[in-house]
Amino acid sequence: AAKDDGKGIARQFSRHLEFRAQERTRLEESLYAALQARQHLFVFYQPIVDLYSGCVTAREALVRWHHPERGWISPAEFVSVAEQCGLIDPLGEFVLDRACRSAMQWEDGAHVAVNISAIQLGRETLVPAVAAALAASGLPAERLDIEVTETALLGDEQGGIQDLLALRRMGVGISLDDFGTGYSSLAHLRAFPFDKIKIDGSFVRDALARPECAAVVRVIADLGQRLGVRTVAEGVETEDQLALVRREGCVEVQGYLHGRPMPAADDIERVSRLDPELVVR
Ligand code: C2E
Ligand code: MG
Ligand code: MG
Ligand code: MG
Repeated sequence: AAKDDGKGIARQFSRHLEFRAQERTRLEESLYAALQARQHLFVFYQPIVDLYSGCVTAREALVRWHHPERGWISPAEFVSVAEQCGLIDPLGEFVLDRACRSAMQWEDGAHVAVNISAIQLGRETLVPAVAAALAASGLPAERLDIEVTETALLGDEQGGIQDLLALRRMGVGISLDDFGTGYSSLAHLRAFPFDKIKIDGSFVRDALARPECAAVVRVIADLGQRLGVRTVAEGVETEDQLALVRREGCVEVQGYLHGRPMPAADDIERVSRLDPELVVR
């Protein structure tokens, strides 16, 4: 009987694996189709606000995918799928292209901040893709900021840094995203002169309840001030959090308090047909 059980479990597990593999393949296929058709993929924008002037200095481009059957899928899920199945370059180019074109429509002249995957950095394709998106849209390089995480600086460090330097020479701003999480190391700040440091939202979220998180916010803000690098607090949702990050010395904020990620003007109708709740507010 014990042997039978073993077989039963093995059969069930292999069915599970097969199901998972099929599901994954279907997801990759529909992402490929969405990229080919330029359909069901959107770029939303979230304001980043200067604490002293109250002005929007930049808007972060955040990719969105509305899957025909599954509805909205988080970039936290499908960006890593794209990275693993070779679709990150076309996805990244799609976002760059849309982001530069959208920014051209903004009357306030704010920057547009585009996230770049660690995989994109240090390959031959990134710098030409940025140059092409700028040229096609007419956006001045000075209005584009590229956001990279520390992971991007691990491993093939040289290629990554070379790309960042090349982008910087073009006039593009470079931000260090999600600082304080993962492989945080002060060496990254020495390896490249970032224009902005974005403090990960997890510290901001917990800062009111946990003094050690508030301390991290303060230390990063101090560091930014000494290095002459602007510090952005991510994930600011409440007035109390706003007061705290201001007190700790951050100079810019981004979060639901100042605005949720919203579709570009051209996409509002399409998105509100898919999901009215996202756009009304
Ligand atoms: P990120 O670059 O750190 O982007 C900030 C994330 O925080 C976004 O999540 C944004 O919607 C969310 N957020 C902003 N304000 C608040 C707030 O007040 N509270 C909370 N709870 N969350 C807030 P989103 O859009 O789901 O993106 C998740 C991550 O996916 C991004 O983190 C980025 O790493 C990645 N990602 C998004 N778009 C792209 C893209 O076009 N390319 C690449 N390579 N990665 C992207
Ligand atoms: Mg980002
Ligand atoms: Mg971030
Ligand atoms: Mg993040």
